[in-house]
Amino acid sequence: MMRIKTFLFSLRGKAIISATLFVVIFMGVIGYAILSREKALYLKDKENQAVVLVETAGINFTNAILYQEVGLIEETGVVDHYISDLLNKEKDILTIIIFDNTGMVMAHCHLFEHGKFYEDSKEVIAHEATLVREVKNKDRGPILEAITPLMIGERRLATLRIEFSLKDFYEKLTDLGKRIFLLTIIAISGSIFLMVIGINAMTRPIRRLSRAMDIIDYGRFDDFSESPREDEIGHLQRSFMGMVRRLKEADLQWENTFNSITDLITIHDRDFRIVKANIALAHRLGTTTDGLRGKRCWEIFHDSNGPSKDCLHAITLKTGQPATAETEYPNLEGIFLTTTFPIFNERREVVGTVHIAKDITQEKRFQEKLIQSEKMAAMGHMASGIAHEINNPLNSILGYATYLLEETQDGDKGREELDRIARASKRCKETVKRFLDFGRETPKKIEPVNIKEAAADALSMCHHPISSQRIEVMEEIESGLYINGDKGQMEDVFVNLILNACQAMDNGGELTIKAYRDNGWIKVRVSDTGCGIPEENLNKIFDPFFTTKEPGKGTGLGLSVSHTIIKNHGGTIDCESMAGKGATFIITLPENKYAI
Ligand code: ADP
Repeated sequence: MMRIKTFLFSLRGKAIISATLFVVIFMGVIGYAILSREKALYLKDKENQAVVLVETAGINFTNAILYQEVGLIEETGVVDHYISDLLNKEKDILTIIIFDNTGMVMAHCHLFEHGKFYEDSKEVIAHEATLVREVKNKDRGPILEAITPLMIGERRLATLRIEFSLKDFYEKLTDLGKRIFLLTIIAISGSIFLMVIGINAMTRPIRRLSRAMDIIDYGRFDDFSESPREDEIGHLQRSFMGMVRRLKEADLQWENTFNSITDLITIHDRDFRIVKANIALAHRLGTTTDGLRGKRCWEIFHDSNGPSKDCLHAITLKTGQPATAETEYPNLEGIFLTTTFPIFNERREVVGTVHIAKDITQEKRFQEKLIQSEKMAAMGHMASGIAHEINNPLNSILGYATYLLEETQDGDKGREELDRIARASKRCKETVKRFLDFGRETPKKIEPVNIKEAAADALSMCHHPISSQRIEVMEEIESGLYINGDKGQMEDVFVNLILNACQAMDNGGELTIKAYRDNGWIKVRVSDTGCGIPEENLNKIFDPFFTTKEPGKGTGLGLSVSHTIIKNHGGTIDCESMAGKGATFIITLPENKYAI
């Protein structure tokens, strides 16, 4: 049904229908004209013949009737003879009737009609001159009757009526009509066939152009290629192809621009559906831009079932103004600076938004690290200041306490107290040393440090807690890994990490130290299977004095000192951990490739 409708309203359909109608009407009119003309000519001819015949026969009948009247001949015999003679000669005569002046049949080709009066007798005898006319008779079919008064001078003797059959004529006319009809059908079919071919040839390029238009509507420019004709349609084709080329270039330019932006860009409609997404977003999500089209933005960015309460798209749809916020998208694993811009239609209604998300995760981390470094630097200055101040009196206390201890014997009064003073002062000195290390800005001595050796030394320093807590140690350190730096400080870092790991594995566990090359860097991973670090503490563990250990067991300086040392060696230290799932500390340092 739909196809018929499409055909009827198409250019080709309209042309074929109008041309067919024209041919049908034209052939109909021509056929009708031919038939009418044929009929008129034949009737005219027949009428003329009838006039001649009726008038000629009329003379004979007049004479015969006159002779009868004057008694020259016997009654009726001659008239009947003339009648049968005429019937024999003229095959298409149906009847010959002679009416007397009262309207009674006085002679007839059928004798039993004699003496009858017909319904139209009066009318027939009323005619003053010869009359020829066509009469339609239900029983006998079409008839041509010729009536003539039989006159002698001014006197009317009788009226003669001869009826001719038109049956043959009408049969021939019907035959002719049929032939004309057949010819018309052949002519119509032929002309429709030719017209369909002609119209098809004319409209084919237009249809192709129209199909090409549809294709372009869907953005598939490459599917249209056409070699232009040399007529007006060719001109249309050339202009159209020029337009397609310009559209394609514009589309490519826009697509390239859209896709070369590394920020994540999407265009959303009022229904929160993604109309278009750039390649940067598709890559980030491990999909294609087509795969994102039609999805709701909350599925993609938030993995939720509806818009968040502070959804920027919703705000822009409502206000018609751009909206900006720092957002964390769970699906994209990062922090983004997102802005939505309104898209207006010609009536200035907001029909959608452009959503641009700039990944600022690195900047954020860098900022956090900067704050951390600044904090550490400030703490370092303060710590080294305090440490210096305390160091001299502490040295005096320790020196005098040691001197006095040497001067006393076991069991002497005050020896035990002196021993406590000396041990407490030593502990204080240890802490002060850490403070001093913490504040130190550069490594003391720069030399090639073999990572395998530094790790082995640190492990041997931690032998006691490792063996007493039944900790299994696994070393996967590539040989020949060197960095440039202070070996003692590097050992301090490893000792800090190993001791922390041991403290996290009260009931034993595994300690793994891995070291390997990674693109000009050396990575050292120290992992344990201990209690792990809760998420909320992860960004605090490198803060000075942050500790979760009981007083006396931890100072909260181990990791912050390690952080400072690694930073001063041009590297970074990070931690990956989850509560109950152990912890991994990752140190990244620049490799010394030339050390032997
Ligand atoms: P301290 O060990 O003196 O507490 P650190 O700076 O070395 O100070 O460590 C800070 C905190 O980080 C510790 O108190 C502990 O909560 C946490 N931590 C460090 N290493 C680990 C580890 N391997 N497993 C679990 N928690 C750890």
